[in-house]
Amino acid sequence: MLMRQLIFLTMIALLAGCAVNPVTGKKELSLVSEKQELAIGAQQYAPARQSQGGDYAVDHELSAYVSRVGQRLAAVSDRKLPYEFKVLNSSVPNAWALPGGKISINRGLLTELKSEAELAAVLGHEIVHAAAKHGVRSMSKGMLLQAGVAGAAIATQGTDYANLAQMGTGIGAQLITQKYGRDAERESDFYGMQYMVRAGYDPQGAVDLQRTFVKLAEGRRQDWLNGLFASHPPSQERVQNNIELLASLPKGGDLGVARYRTKTARLTRTKPAYEAYDEGREALAKGDRAKAGRLAQQAIALEPKEAHFYGLLGDVEQKNKRLKPAMLQYDKAIQLNPNFFYYYLQRGKLNEQLNLTSQAQADLERSVKLLPTAGAYNSLGNLAQKAGRLTDAKGYYAKVAGTEGELGLQAYGALVDLDLKDNPAKYVRVRVGQDAQSRIVARVSNPTPRNISRIVLLIQYRDATGKTQQLRRSLSGTVAAESQQLFDLDLTGKLTQEQIKTLQSGIAEAQVVR
Ligand SMILES: [Zn+2]
Repeated sequence: MLMRQLIFLTMIALLAGCAVNPVTGKKELSLVSEKQELAIGAQQYAPARQSQGGDYAVDHELSAYVSRVGQRLAAVSDRKLPYEFKVLNSSVPNAWALPGGKISINRGLLTELKSEAELAAVLGHEIVHAAAKHGVRSMSKGMLLQAGVAGAAIATQGTDYANLAQMGTGIGAQLITQKYGRDAERESDFYGMQYMVRAGYDPQGAVDLQRTFVKLAEGRRQDWLNGLFASHPPSQERVQNNIELLASLPKGGDLGVARYRTKTARLTRTKPAYEAYDEGREALAKGDRAKAGRLAQQAIALEPKEAHFYGLLGDVEQKNKRLKPAMLQYDKAIQLNPNFFYYYLQRGKLNEQLNLTSQAQADLERSVKLLPTAGAYNSLGNLAQKAGRLTDAKGYYAKVAGTEGELGLQAYGALVDLDLKDNPAKYVRVRVGQDAQSRIVARVSNPTPRNISRIVLLIQYRDATGKTQQLRRSLSGTVAAESQQLFDLDLTGKLTQEQIKTLQSGIAEAQVVR
């Protein structure tokens, strides 16, 4: 995998080579072409947002306002890109940019800002990350890990939805959680403030923002450390740099304090609702269903339009084994926000339990379209298997089998059950050779979670005349799950040392022990 990635990057290097950075004007090595840069952003934007709680859908006016501020800055940036700005439904104070100008800011950061200029400072800073290719530069340097490790990286972010999203976010998960490094941060602060001036904002907003950040960092609140500060460590040095730059910039410009207060009024007013919700999620994770239910009701009383709150109530009912009431809550959540994967995933699994097959199928398919998850694919596998669509079932289980955790193991087992007879060599491995006593033996490895027996080996060697000889050997006994075993092939003394060197082997047959 890594090798393939390296070869791939080397190939691009030959195509792309050196390029001038559109923001700094410096020449730099660029291993990722612009076409690819745009493609990464376009592909990763939606799943990355889903895994962070989805778009904030309660107040469309606020979303439109944030987008307008972003576009006002983007219009004066040094690079034309298909910029987009979304507000994410997460309390974690954070903002990020994907390559190609796909930018998000969390609800939890908006409530900490005091003016439109501060918002412009955040968005301007992120615009520079995208325009100056900071994300793809890390990719070029090979600083990003492979997709498999990325799941773990995003899971440590501590949001409930990210924990489910171990598939499908791959490189996007790393791009939004990575540290760009000091130079990139300084560059983003510097050009971000220039863009603020060009767009008519008072760059004082950037200084205010950094001051607030330093104060917040001293408080060491965990949500900040997990959020913005993980990728953007604040420092007195950054405040100082911004103050110095401010002195050299033209005075005046728009601060937009009153306008910002008006636009974020609903969000500010309903902040306690989201705090109750977050606390409720925590309570449910600890098993306190009554408390979680109470907090969800509290949240709904303050903000009845938020779908997440009904999703939490649905989860409480589902844990209480009250499937029909749970279903009603997920229905409500979907009614309020039809664009979030989680409600479909949960309702799909309920429908599966209630044997409402076609509804389950529709919900789960919808959910993986929004965000591929192991849970949805596993349930789709179960449905396909029950309906006798075994090829489909194998395909679904195979997607889950590679993921971490209990579900991955379960799907791996289900896949072996369905597929071992047809493709034994895919699951069981064999090597033939001589042991310390010069016996000819086969080492059979069974990495699967199933006990496997009735193994038949196909053995080949070249005889004295150079002709290939083939023989089959049935092995007696069982190779236990996740273990290996040596078998005497009963060939000792029958082959010459020369012939032994030409030995090859494969798995012809194998069966799961029922
Ligand atoms: Zn930054």
